[in-house]
Amino acid sequence: MKQQFDVAILGAGLAGRLAAWRLVRGGLRVALVERAGPDGAGAAAHVAAAMLAPLAESAISERRIVELGIASVDLWRAWVAELNAEQADEPTAVDPVFFQQDGTLVVWHAHDRGEMPLFTSRIRAVSPPELVAERLRRLDAAGIASLEPALAGRFQQGLLLEGEGQLDNRGTLRALLACAVSAGVHCVWEAGEIDERDLPRLGIDARVVLDCRGLGARAAWPAEGAIGGGGGGMPGLRGLRGEVVRVFAPEVSLHRPVRLLHPRYPIYIAPKPNHLYVIGATELESEDDSPMSVRSALELLSAAYSLHPAFGEARVLELNVQRRPTRPDHLPAVRVDEQARVVRLNGLYRHGFLIAPAVVEAACEVVRALADGDPAAHAVPASARWPGMIAPVHGNAVLH
Ligand SMILES: Cc1cc2nc3c(=O)[nH]c(=O)nc-3n(C[C@H](O)[C@H](O)[C@H](O)COP(=O)(O)OP(=O)(O)OC[C@H]3O[C@@H](n4cnc5c(N)ncnc54)[C@H](O)[C@@H]3O)c2cc1C
Repeated sequence: MKQQFDVAILGAGLAGRLAAWRLVRGGLRVALVERAGPDGAGAAAHVAAAMLAPLAESAISERRIVELGIASVDLWRAWVAELNAEQADEPTAVDPVFFQQDGTLVVWHAHDRGEMPLFTSRIRAVSPPELVAERLRRLDAAGIASLEPALAGRFQQGLLLEGEGQLDNRGTLRALLACAVSAGVHCVWEAGEIDERDLPRLGIDARVVLDCRGLGARAAWPAEGAIGGGGGGMPGLRGLRGEVVRVFAPEVSLHRPVRLLHPRYPIYIAPKPNHLYVIGATELESEDDSPMSVRSALELLSAAYSLHPAFGEARVLELNVQRRPTRPDHLPAVRVDEQARVVRLNGLYRHGFLIAPAVVEAACEVVRALADGDPAAHAVPASARWPGMIAPVHGNAVLH
């Protein structure tokens, strides 16, 4: 016997869990189907540093990411409060989600000072001027020491990117799932590599499918302009290898993410609760998901050691590798097949935590309209807040 749902979500990574929680709270009957287990170990979100850094990321991305990021950080603030409040009422509550917005500190060693004007000029070229004026603050040695006493005397100059935040990635995944399940989401784990055609076999009959499989949805994202198997070019979805190290460093006390500008390997160190630090991240144009290379481990750990020698006594807990689901334009996209009632969300690339709330919200709006079943309702809103991000498709072909 099949169970009836308004929406079946494929993939319980970051986007899938967020969507499940938002949709079930809106009164929809939701099934969440994942190839792996509930710990999220198959997801890019499981290894991410989960920094929410619209300005810092604008040094290497487009205005759209900054705008989605600013909107999403506001949503995270509200949603984390809701997640924590919902969990507070549960007898088997998960830990409150760690979230902070104390800014990003950017520093550089004296011999790399040439990196700073490059970094700030890229930020200025991409970010809205009023945002830069409001949030980018230059620091001297005393300013750095007052923000991060552990770095006193180590750097002469720095930048503070105010209002930037971070989450605990794994805590967020746990809380999203716990709240979704409490609200009635039906979960299917260990389903294997599935797509929407497998749902009947899994006993699921859904009015709408929301595909959040990240890189696992690659086959559903052919190169645009190369529909029907023709043409070459860039794949519609590809993985970009990223490596991060998780360390336990009880002798280091940093309060906010720190970015170290460097010509060859710019790194960040994101402090999590209990003296855990995520040191990252490489970005390699490669689908390889084999274990971390010695070179990457050396570069990441040496950079951390150069930031603060007490990292030399840190304990390495994990050397993680994942691939970021990336579209040719490095922007997120939502593709809507109204006829087949399938919505696909993908391309969160290196900004998933930064931008997911706004992207998921936009996709959920379309899902609600489709689940409503009103044939007169246009599932793809004409005046979408993010022009171009949502597009109708038929099969795999984008309709213009
Ligand atoms: C090293 C690294 C560091 C990062 N740091 C940051 C950061 O600091 N800030 C930030 O904003 N972003 C960061 N990101 C990016 C962020 O993690 C991703 O953008 C985000 O996780 C993508 O979310 P997603 O839900 O699309 O995919 P995922 O989180 O990968 O989830 C996809 C899910 O679908 C499941 N799945 C796949 N195929 C199938 C299938 N066939 N059937 C069923 N289930 C399937 C997977 O098992 C997984 O659970 C980082 C990423 C990496 C790799």
